[in-house]
Amino acid sequence: MKIVIIPGDGIGPETMAVCTQVLETISDKCGLGLELIPEIAGHESLKIRKATVTQELLETVKNADGLMLGPMSTFDFKDESKGEINPSKFFRKQLDLYANIRPAKTFKNIPTRMNPFDLAVVRENTEGFYSDRNVESGNSEILVTPEVGISLRRITKLCCDRIAKSAFELAMTRKKHVTIVHKANVLRITDGMFIDSCLSVAKNYPEVKVDDIIVDAMMAHVVRNPEKFDTIVTTNMFGDILSDLTAELSGSLGLGGSLNAGDMYAMGQAAHGSAPDIAGQNIANPFSLVTSASMLLNWLGARHQQVSLINAAKVIDRCLEQAIDAKETTKDIGGSLGTDQTGKLLIERIRTYQLI
Ligand code: NAD
Repeated sequence: MKIVIIPGDGIGPETMAVCTQVLETISDKCGLGLELIPEIAGHESLKIRKATVTQELLETVKNADGLMLGPMSTFDFKDESKGEINPSKFFRKQLDLYANIRPAKTFKNIPTRMNPFDLAVVRENTEGFYSDRNVESGNSEILVTPEVGISLRRITKLCCDRIAKSAFELAMTRKKHVTIVHKANVLRITDGMFIDSCLSVAKNYPEVKVDDIIVDAMMAHVVRNPEKFDTIVTTNMFGDILSDLTAELSGSLGLGGSLNAGDMYAMGQAAHGSAPDIAGQNIANPFSLVTSASMLLNWLGARHQQVSLINAAKVIDRCLEQAIDAKETTKDIGGSLGTDQTGKLLIERIRTYQLI
């Protein structure tokens, strides 16, 4: 298995250093034979290759089995004609990574005001309000006059159907409950189509309980009673916002792992950004990226029917839980360790984990 590793911007190099060592350690431990291919994107690539991402990089990723993408300073990348391409958009669109799975759960040793919960946001990843990726060429955000702007939101039945299927498949492995989050009271055509697709796909999963909530009310419901949710399916921008909230409710955005998955490729990527406010300070939480790596191994195991990869993901998850129990964590979730020391202790846990 070949996995391309791109550290990214801001806190990316610090957190990806931990994630890379976790992958090396689990590979040795479980005999996975992972080949990690170091690559660059974002600011480093802009400096060296005059573009944040390149076609050659895309080919390297296509020839590998998976990608770990570090957080990117996407807000800095404003002009594609100068090579400033949003790397997240680039890979999601070019590899058709339509399902963004963002789990969030509480741990007993992480301070939070919430009741214990365990949920997953399933976010459509290729269209919606994201004007840099919802059209074949160009950009669907238009400056009509210096003082008038228009942003178009694209919703298609194909994308609704496939994200709905991803959500119901995931729900079958969880508590068999899907909540559809939408704004169909206003966006009657587009979110109406989204609900119709979800309800139509639901017919193939009679064991799964289905309900729906309007997105604004959802913000109140998920803060009030997060434990009432299991699998939440929603469109691109609603899912982006909601999943940052659910990660933070679980204790910290620094716990927000995520997988971007298509039919052929998958990319592990933390839910958060490059966090320039804490970059270079050795305080960023590496667990979001480590969780994303575990999700990637699990996806690869399912796709290639390799149980060893699925078991390796379980070992990583178990060691993360043990590290949190032992408070071997960064300060955003109540610990007192730096990023590097948190990583060192986690890697030691993985190295000495008793396999049965
Ligand atoms: P952010 O997600 O980087 O940070 C939000 C807050 O969460 C900050 O207080 C930050 O310190 C904290 N945080 C984030 N990750 C953390 C971690 N691992 N451990 C501890 N605390 C953590 O959002 P932002 O500051 O609005 O964005 C910074 C840059 O990241 C922008 O350029 C933005 O466009 C980009 N961004 C990229 C992605 C991505 O690459 N997928 C996602 C979101 C934002």
